[in-house]
Amino acid sequence: PVDRSPEIEEARLKLPILAEEQVIMEAISENPIVIICGETGSGKTTQVPQFLYEAGYASPDGAIGITEPRRVAAVSMSQRVAKEMNLSHRVVSYQIRYEGNVSDETQIKFMTDGVLLKEIQKDFLLSKYKVIIIDEAHERSMYTDILIGLLSRIVPLRAKKGRPLKLIVMSATLRVEDFTENKRLFSVTPPIIQVDARQFPVTIHFNKKTPLDDYSGECFRKVCKIHRMLPPGGILVFLTGQAEVHSLCRRLRKAFPFQKNNTAGDDDKEESMEEIRKFKKSRKRKKVTTLPKIDLDSYSVVPVDEGDEDRDAETDDDIAGSDLDLDLGDGDSEADEKSDSSLPLYVLPLYSLLAPEKQAKVFSAPPPGTRLCVVATNVAETSLTIPGIKYVVDCGKVKKRFYDKITGVSSFRVTWISQASANQRAGRAGRTEPGHCYRLYSSAVFMDFEKFSAPEITKRPVEDLILQMKALNIEKVINFPFPTPPPAEALAAAEELLIALGALKEPPMTGRLKQQLAAKLSCPISPLGRIMATFPVAPRYGKMLALSRQHDCLPYTITIVSAMTVRELFEEFDRPAVSEEETAKLKEKKARLLQMQKLWAGQGTMQKLGDLMVMLGAVGACEYAGCTRKFCEENGLRYKAMLEIRRLRGQLTTAVNSVCTDAGLYVDPKMKPPTEAQVTYLRQIVLAGLGDHVARRVQAEELLDDKWKNAYKTALLDDPVFIHPSSVLFKQLPEFVVYQEIVETTKMYMKGVSAVEPE
Ligand code: ADP
Ligand code: MG
Repeated sequence: PVDRSPEIEEARLKLPILAEEQVIMEAISENPIVIICGETGSGKTTQVPQFLYEAGYASPDGAIGITEPRRVAAVSMSQRVAKEMNLSHRVVSYQIRYEGNVSDETQIKFMTDGVLLKEIQKDFLLSKYKVIIIDEAHERSMYTDILIGLLSRIVPLRAKKGRPLKLIVMSATLRVEDFTENKRLFSVTPPIIQVDARQFPVTIHFNKKTPLDDYSGECFRKVCKIHRMLPPGGILVFLTGQAEVHSLCRRLRKAFPFQKNNTAGDDDKEESMEEIRKFKKSRKRKKVTTLPKIDLDSYSVVPVDEGDEDRDAETDDDIAGSDLDLDLGDGDSEADEKSDSSLPLYVLPLYSLLAPEKQAKVFSAPPPGTRLCVVATNVAETSLTIPGIKYVVDCGKVKKRFYDKITGVSSFRVTWISQASANQRAGRAGRTEPGHCYRLYSSAVFMDFEKFSAPEITKRPVEDLILQMKALNIEKVINFPFPTPPPAEALAAAEELLIALGALKEPPMTGRLKQQLAAKLSCPISPLGRIMATFPVAPRYGKMLALSRQHDCLPYTITIVSAMTVRELFEEFDRPAVSEEETAKLKEKKARLLQMQKLWAGQGTMQKLGDLMVMLGAVGACEYAGCTRKFCEENGLRYKAMLEIRRLRGQLTTAVNSVCTDAGLYVDPKMKPPTEAQVTYLRQIVLAGLGDHVARRVQAEELLDDKWKNAYKTALLDDPVFIHPSSVLFKQLPEFVVYQEIVETTKMYMKGVSAVEPE
């Protein structure tokens, strides 16, 4: 029996899914697998777990598990459901990569999809669960897709054991044919229950013209117009990244001040830093006490990027010379920017990295006499439903990381969304009354959008996924019931890399070419591969860790790998400044950072470890100083990044200890610098892990074309690549280097560079 408060009960009754409770529960009781489709906001995520709980599906020895592709959703939905049910967080809990509040009383568990995948590796039959709900299946995140494939096999196995497992797949769209019409996946087509959306009509307004680039400024003008001229009702704006969100919030707060938040409005960047700091601090406090002995069961090993994509895309220091901060500083000159305090606007930002309590603000009513305006990234598209929205302003863009399928070269790009996404965004306006959606692009441009965005698995390198699958003894990856299989060339590239790293056993080199290729796609995992698979990092880094037992290199490799995984340790000072004063300040800070980097790079042969030595030195120095915000600010380090590295070091240390039980490692805040001999070993270890990432300086005689000046040649690319200007090896131009990654901005740049000796 659930004891809900009268207000909650009343709000629930308004949700369309409540009308379907009986139909849903009957379908679940009669079928092992059920698909539920319903518009965002219809109540799937918050209500279905409650239906199941009330019907007796949960108990401490058989929980209800719900997976989310985003961390934000896992945390906030578990909190919401606990509150609705009047139950403690010990019973309704969450688990994401770094943290969770799962207890031995947990009966409803929200988690990221990566966490559940890791659990399958430990317990293939998922015996702790009676029900698994895969939420947001329409997003087609890579781990969601794999989970559905695995569960299609686990469900019948559990039935055979006489302990049936229910699988519920939930989607915000009706586009589920990849699941239902795929006989290899589900031989019996599962029933689809469609929840009536009770959506009010939304009038779509297209712009006549599509702004070439300043969509952020266009958003500002549109919000001003709506606020001045249109009847009450909340406004939801879709932008692409955190910097844009903050910049627009600032401009809007200036234009329509509201006394309660306009004090912070002047510098909401600072405000947000403050939030992040507090948020991190509260997490840090928890962590510090448990750091040396993190429970291995409570972290997810698999996905390096699990749930990180938004966060990654939202951070702003990932792009050099991008067009993302277009409206930085152009604010004050605009006519619109006159303050009008007679029309207060209650402006709230919303993005993944925002502290949970700030995120929660969007769910409560705005102060009386004000209009709510939420400026959000893509997280508001389907994961979270904001009440009271009547107007949607859609810039039509999204920031995404793109990978080259074969080379893995990645870049962040702002691109048009799909038609499906645009319609999802528009739908946010019609939850409580008829609404309006303003699309800042023309209908002709809309017609050129892709119908749907492609499943993630078809768009990124899959070597980490393949290694995890091999660790589950799925040898013939090609036969796996993927809802949508990754492209054959991506599978082949992944196997190739894993064989080269020694993670898979090489097929015998006999027989015809075709057979060889077929054999290559079904190589079993090697003992080394098994060790690599236990580390929560990409296979290349896993290999480095596996080798570092020798010569006491482990603490250093753990630190380097943590730093490489977190990326972007240093502040970016090459940004446009608003004033001369700021320009001077930035220059000074940059000089200081360069000086420190030189120091961290060490002396003599140590310098050859290049950027990785700088990372090691920076983390060492920062930890030595207690990893304070002050130290980071003074020395050009990103505080957020340093905290994350610290967490990852703790995790990796625990992971290593569990593989090498006699290693007895701990995270030493006063870690000594490596000896010169150790640096030499470390360079070998790095080369072993990044062996396919070797580049050779273009020889003078090959310099046919000016574009090859200072360029390097890699095995994978025809085009020239360059050492990134932020690298300590930028001026030295060693003959051979290994690089962590190539990121394409204005050129192909290698980042995380070390020098290697020719044979
Ligand atoms: P769906 O999963 O179908 O998109 P949800 O279950 O997430 O729908 O949302 C159902 C309703 O619950 C929405 O109207 C949403 O506004 C509300 N809701 C969700 N989280 C919260 C919260 N933290 N506070 C208040 N209301 C919430
Ligand atoms: Mg939902």
